[in-house]
Amino acid sequence: MTSELGARLSAIDEKIADAARLAGRDAGEITRIVVTKFHPASLVRDLHALGVREVGENRQQELSAKTAELGDLDDLRWHFIGQAQTNKAAAIRRSADAVHSIDRDRLADALHRGAEDDRILDVLVQINLTDDPGRGGVAPDAAAALAEHVLSLPSLRLRGVMAVAPLDEEPASAFDRLRTVADGVRSLDPAADWISAGMTGDFTEAILAGATHLRIGSAITGPRPDRG
Ligand SMILES: *Cc1c(COP(=O)(O)O)cnc(C)c1O
Repeated sequence: MTSELGARLSAIDEKIADAARLAGRDAGEITRIVVTKFHPASLVRDLHALGVREVGENRQQELSAKTAELGDLDDLRWHFIGQAQTNKAAAIRRSADAVHSIDRDRLADALHRGAEDDRILDVLVQINLTDDPGRGGVAPDAAAALAEHVLSLPSLRLRGVMAVAPLDEEPASAFDRLRTVADGVRSLDPAADWISAGMTGDFTEAILAGATHLRIGSAITGPRPDRG
């Protein structure tokens, strides 16, 4: 099992390196987050043994359970990438090192209020690249206002933007729009220079469009167990 996992991980890392070369970028400036949602904590432990340090989860309960079970692996960095209810914000903050999915002022406020110590939480504003307001994230033209709000909350550190490519559009054009939004957000604070984009099906396009953080699940972990 671990050797298959290791083989898939190396294959993806080679593709990341190829895409970076194509883009004229240094692969070392690209962070590969392995999305482990729905998989058991034991898979995260196997990934850690293979050198993975950045992992992503999209549900608070699963994040909390896995961080509790893997408390001995204290160099793992946990990225929360899912939609969040404000009443879960404190629990998310307790377990996550970064939250990619800030989509409204009230969630930023709840994460700020949930601070239990001096630790500053890295956060990204999620951008909705579709025309459907029901999808996660803020509209591109509302990103700057949300970013400004995050900047007003001292326990949060604005790190940039995150998005998922729409299903009905070429990822390259969607990620180009994301890059424009990212430039606008970075102009508010130079530390906000992350672009979290690119999944199993579109990470090459994301790298070409400047992504700094890839969120790759099934290409590395294998298919997710059925859990909705
Ligand atoms: C599940 C998920 C991913 C990873 O998806 P794969 O297609 O398995 O790589 C990335 N980003 C978000 C927000 C996700 O929910």
